[in-house]
Amino acid sequence: MKRRKLYEGKAKVVYETDEPDKLVLEFKDEASAFDGLKKARVEGKGALNNAISSALFELLESRGIKTHFIKKLSEREMLVYRAERFPLEVVVRNYAAGSFVKRYGVKEGTPLEPPLVEFFLKSDELHDPMVCEEHVRALKLAPPELLPEMKKLALKVNEVLRELFKKKGIRLVDFKLEMGILPDGNLAVVDELSPDSMRLWDERTGEKLDKDRFRFGLGDLLEGYKEVLSRLKN
Ligand code: UDP
Repeated sequence: MKRRKLYEGKAKVVYETDEPDKLVLEFKDEASAFDGLKKARVEGKGALNNAISSALFELLESRGIKTHFIKKLSEREMLVYRAERFPLEVVVRNYAAGSFVKRYGVKEGTPLEPPLVEFFLKSDELHDPMVCEEHVRALKLAPPELLPEMKKLALKVNEVLRELFKKKGIRLVDFKLEMGILPDGNLAVVDELSPDSMRLWDERTGEKLDKDRFRFGLGDLLEGYKEVLSRLKN
């Protein structure tokens, strides 16, 4: 398959293929946090995130949820549909953590029932400011009539992933989704679904198995990600 580099981000490289509606995502061995302020090379992270993302996208697809995923191509590469992406991060929270704790002063781990959906503008320079539906409309970040569908999609993804992780003894605390419109016109989940973009806590010990290990130096990043993958595979 012919490839032409389209874009290189912090954690992935995106390539065009000889088919105009398909892209290759290559997962890099780079960890970054705090809007790119903290960075490190972590050998093996790309392969783990590709494997975890692919497994989660396959599960979502099997449950009738639209995603850009086509197939896992190789250890670090995934084939996806090209989507018209919105510059939005859709965050779903089941428990308080991260920026929610900072912003609202609640204790980490406080249950949020029903799960909360938040929107953020995807912009490192602006530090991903939170936006409300009126901002999405005013700044034309996405078609406003799609917002209810985006929320519904985010909550459906939450239901499926939360149940899966629960079976594996993992608590899905929160996660970030990106969304876009596929070539067939459907709203779909794009980007990745990995411990880089979700908080996963061991149900029994409370151990953090996600990128917070890197953000706050809580232990070896790879060990957490490996644990997540091995539980998904069992
Ligand atoms: N997240 C992400 N990319 C971002 C911001 C957040 O993947 O640019 C994920 C993060 O890993 C967590 C969830 O979205 O699982 C909620 O993040 P939060 O708003 O608490 O922000 P953070 O703690 O990253 O500042």
